Amino acid sequence: MVKHTPMMEQYLKIKAEHQDAFLFYRLGDFYELFFDDAIKAARELEITLTKRGSQGDKEGIPMCGVPYHSAENYIKTLIEKGYKVAICEQVEDPKTAKGVVKREVVQIVTPGTVMSQTMLKEGENNYLCSLSHFQDGSFVVVYNDLSTGENRLTLIKEGWDAVLHELYNQPIREIVIPSTLSEEFQTQLREKLQVTLSYQDEVTFNAEYRSLTENLNDERLMKAFSRLLNYIQKTQMRSLDHLKQATIIELKDYLSLDMYSKRNLELTETIIKKGKHGSLLWVLDKTVTAMGSRMMKKWIERPLLNKQAIEKRLNIVESFHAGFMEREMLRESLKSVYDMERLAARIAFGNVNARDLIQLKQSLRNIPEIKKILQQFPAPEMKELADELVYPEDIVDILEQSIIEDPPASITEGGIIKDGYNEQLDSYRDASRNGKQWIAELERKEKDLTNIKSLKIGFNRVFGYYIEVTKSNTHLLPEGRYERKQTLANAERYITPELKEKETLILEAEEKSIDLEHALFLDIREEMKDHIPLFQQLADHISRIDCLQAFATVSEENNYTRPRFVEDKLTIKNGRHPVVEKVMSDGTFVPNDVSLDKENSILLITGPNMSGKSTYMRQLALTVIMAQIGCFVPCDEADLIVFDQIFTRIGAADDLVSGQSTFMVEMLEANHALAKATDRSLILLDEIGRGTSTYDGMALAQAIVEYIHNNIGAKTLFSTHYHELTAMEKNLNQLKNIHVRAEEYDGNVVFLHKIKEGSADRSYGIQVAKLAGLPEALIERANTILIELEEGSKPAPVTEKIESGQLSFFIEEREKENEKQPTKKEHHIIDELKNLNLFEMTPMEAMNALYKLQKKV
Ligand code: ADP
Repeated sequence: MVKHTPMMEQYLKIKAEHQDAFLFYRLGDFYELFFDDAIKAARELEITLTKRGSQGDKEGIPMCGVPYHSAENYIKTLIEKGYKVAICEQVEDPKTAKGVVKREVVQIVTPGTVMSQTMLKEGENNYLCSLSHFQDGSFVVVYNDLSTGENRLTLIKEGWDAVLHELYNQPIREIVIPSTLSEEFQTQLREKLQVTLSYQDEVTFNAEYRSLTENLNDERLMKAFSRLLNYIQKTQMRSLDHLKQATIIELKDYLSLDMYSKRNLELTETIIKKGKHGSLLWVLDKTVTAMGSRMMKKWIERPLLNKQAIEKRLNIVESFHAGFMEREMLRESLKSVYDMERLAARIAFGNVNARDLIQLKQSLRNIPEIKKILQQFPAPEMKELADELVYPEDIVDILEQSIIEDPPASITEGGIIKDGYNEQLDSYRDASRNGKQWIAELERKEKDLTNIKSLKIGFNRVFGYYIEVTKSNTHLLPEGRYERKQTLANAERYITPELKEKETLILEAEEKSIDLEHALFLDIREEMKDHIPLFQQLADHISRIDCLQAFATVSEENNYTRPRFVEDKLTIKNGRHPVVEKVMSDGTFVPNDVSLDKENSILLITGPNMSGKSTYMRQLALTVIMAQIGCFVPCDEADLIVFDQIFTRIGAADDLVSGQSTFMVEMLEANHALAKATDRSLILLDEIGRGTSTYDGMALAQAIVEYIHNNIGAKTLFSTHYHELTAMEKNLNQLKNIHVRAEEYDGNVVFLHKIKEGSADRSYGIQVAKLAGLPEALIERANTILIELEEGSKPAPVTEKIESGQLSFFIEEREKENEKQPTKKEHHIIDELKNLNLFEMTPMEAMNALYKLQKKV
């Protein structure tokens, strides 16, 4: 066996307890990593891998290290890659230690437990979740954001799929699970949610957190919450005073959006770029605080079901909408409110400095102003909002009296506490200031005495205070009075006994004052800890106010109107798509009406590709969501129904990324809707069946519509390019045909984007292909085939001869150029075209194939 040094023995012992994390082992001014950790970290962090010699180990031990003062950035890199980092500190003073300095892991930083500002996104939560499963088939998900203290739980009885739908698209970084969770579920979590999985099997209730769990009346919830707390304790190793009481999310209180809808409707991020830009959140997020922005995202993902609660939000938005001046003033005030929610969490964590407390003070100072603005509105809801805001004057006073306005970042170097706050501190400061004045006086006296104008008294850390005289003047100094201390190139430095005496007094006073300032600061910080629940409550109220003013702001800027809620009849006049109209920005978006009621609950939409069918469907869903989160909606007038669930199957560009075929995804999404929808749900199905052959697709599409019509009764928008389906209107009473109008001028199609009653007369597929710029000869051939098809004959595949004629455009063009034979690439294209089996393809597939071919030309 290799014999290691005592320090290495210590390292190995600690590392053995932290196998799943990089161990950052503190060694003087560095954190060192050894063995496999070092090899892996050197690669991930792009730092140099070295070797450390060890007794008996001639090869040396792989090692790399990072300076402790810049460790945060390296930790950040590892965390962002999904790793964990165990921070191992020296826990005794190396100067007084006997043998190897004692070391302990003081914190394990994991993706879900980061607290440092540099590792968090401002307007976004950073969730650590725990997931527990129970004998009865139910699951409990707990959401915790350590950086804000939030704790929410939800009990899911509907099985594993419902868990995935719930977790999808939330800012979750890490999920704590029992190791008994099935391998398959674990793989799905990793792949579908791209999160770090951590294991926590021990689940013990900790009495310290009793107050957080008072409202958890179900053993399953208690257990799940304990799993989370146990993990937090295990990794953070400190008590946390900022964790908020666990609240229960009752899924039945919110409009349910499955993961397909969250994604397809691009609520908080777009499908392709995965960014906020282009999402509904992007349009609506006119919040001015980071806390408000986080709340806005949560609201968008959980629209309300309770009409009263929706109306309450709308009343407030209406007030803000009407009071433009007041709203502007409010926005100005809110701008000076810092992220109090995260400040409160960092106070609990014990890592705020004086600057943070100044931010806290400045934030609190805005409350009277915000209250005053709210009181100017007559609506009772506004009064309620104002009343909820309590101004903690005493806390502001303490901070005002104690901490200077522009303190340094360090809390151990003084310069934090105001004069007059503490007598002892004042007396030290007097001593130091008097001493400095005495020294200034001495300098003047010495100049007079020696007649040396350039004589000066200076200070440095090594020699303390000294009298400096240039070499050319040293002969003027009286004998015996000065003791020479240091010689420079052109000056000498001296001290005198009385100067040294004063120096001792000054330095002592300064040292004591710095120590006292540190102690006083820690006291103030400790005192602030007692008020954490108050700060959190204020943060919550301010976030709400911010979200509601944001709704009013965006509603006014974009001409939205207040929706009304009615029973079972939905009418929208001149509705618009909130995102598309914003992106188009030139005012050319064509508004459309929607009308759905008991008699017309299914709208079958036909119309050419690219005419605006899916835009029309999405805009309805977004309008419903906007209304149910309490925002005004993009139209001239809206009577809406409160929907319980929204289901969507809308073609998404990245279907293939998931590894499932487009058709399979399509069927999964449709199945989900059919299984869960009620007569109070909204279903949007876009081009269902296009992923399979024509007859299959058409048959499935028709069967699905009939099923919804006969068995569910949900309000449904169904778009299709199968014109044959429009015949269903005759048999299905509640189905109505509508279409998006397109017109043809000189064989060119013009999209009007206008919804009309009845079905479209034709599909304009070939015109669209023409618009896309496909070769003239090909378009002509397609027209011929179409006519033959419409006449009921089966068009014969083109023969060699006709084919080359059909492809003459290649040859003619080539002849014009340089009269060469077809190139290899062109042959390849010709072959591909030959092999297309047009009779097995849907128009959509044909379009795609042509498009691909054209790209190659
Ligand atoms: P479809 O589903 O019929 O293929 P889309 O809904 O994807 O068509 O719309 C295609 C494009 O047409 C959109 O990207 C948008 O730019 C434009 N469009 C759609 N609806 C409208 C409208 N109402 N007004 C103006 N442009 C629209």
